[in-house]
Amino acid sequence: MGEKKPDFPEHFLDNVGKALKKSVLLRDHSNFRIGGKADYFFEATSIPELVKSILLAREHSIPYFIIGGGYNLLFDDDGFRGLIIKNSVKGIKQIGEKAEVEALAGTLLRDLIQFSINKGLSGFEFLAGIPGTVGGAVFSNAGAFGNSIGKFLKDAEILSKEGNRVKVKRDYFEFRYRHSVLSKKCDVFLRAVFELHKGEKEEIKARIEENLEKRKSNHPPEEVACAGSYFKNPVLPDGRRVPAAYFLDKVEAKDLRIGGAAVYGGHANFIINEEKASAQDVLRLAQELKGRVRERFGVELEEEVIFLPAGSSTP
Ligand SMILES: Cc1cc2nc3c(=O)[nH]c(=O)nc-3n(C[C@H](O)[C@H](O)[C@H](O)COP(=O)(O)OP(=O)(O)OC[C@H]3O[C@@H](n4cnc5c(N)ncnc54)[C@H](O)[C@@H]3O)c2cc1C
Repeated sequence: MGEKKPDFPEHFLDNVGKALKKSVLLRDHSNFRIGGKADYFFEATSIPELVKSILLAREHSIPYFIIGGGYNLLFDDDGFRGLIIKNSVKGIKQIGEKAEVEALAGTLLRDLIQFSINKGLSGFEFLAGIPGTVGGAVFSNAGAFGNSIGKFLKDAEILSKEGNRVKVKRDYFEFRYRHSVLSKKCDVFLRAVFELHKGEKEEIKARIEENLEKRKSNHPPEEVACAGSYFKNPVLPDGRRVPAAYFLDKVEAKDLRIGGAAVYGGHANFIINEEKASAQDVLRLAQELKGRVRERFGVELEEEVIFLPAGSSTP
């Protein structure tokens, strides 16, 4: 644990007013259901708790990592040498009578969609069926059906690497396909205002149902342990973005498994934890898939799922 001062848990309790949990199994906080123990774990339920826990970890030189719902993550079999901070800071409100909604980062996408339906606000229908929090979605510019959350973000508040709460506009995030600046700058996203438009509740609901139906046809059902699409859809030299599954299908990915990890039969871009898979099983299977696609097509697949090595230090 590097240069950790021995009094970190006590100092944390004194400052945050809540105790850290110790030796917490990360598989219980990941939809992949994989991962060993984190040295420390804290679930923040308010912005001050979140900010204080980050600043304290920095002060004590404890590596830390923020998680939302754990739907896009692969934890290490050895867990994490440091502090995992789960962001459960939730809250949604409409801005006056405008078609604008403010959401705190730990808000579930599911709740954001339901709120939009209740208020007759349209735009987020494409998010239906994407599990996780607003924070996780903004981090990776989550999307589906050609839409992504970044398009709707108007302004936001972040905690900068220097520890300041800063207001920023959409441009700051440099949103691209499954990308925002958050990964590069290590900012923590705290909240955002999203611009939607007014619509008819019944029509919004109907579009959501339609999207959920489309997803049902090839996505694994909720009870399957996975972290969504494993690879990003690559861009070919001619500029076309092609589904990773197109290449994976052609290299017979669906027949592959390593240990307890297997490629989902209904969609070749999902690696699933079929039977007590280890993170190593998943990583080896992913390498095998990448190798086959590279060899046959000269295309380099890039992981969409984020692997957190046990010994990572906070950048
Ligand atoms: C069955 C299934 C289907 C899916 N379908 C889709 C899909 O159609 N489209 C899509 O885009 N994704 C999809 N995903 C992936 C996943 O749902 C999204 O990436 C989602 O946004 C993850 O949110 P989360 O809260 O679980 O983030 P986590 O997995 O907990 O974290 C993901 C990353 O976000 C960072 N992060 C989280 N909160 C913050 C914050 N407040 N500030 C800074 N960084 C933060 C974490 O550090 C981590 O690096 C799917 C996943 C599953 C399991």
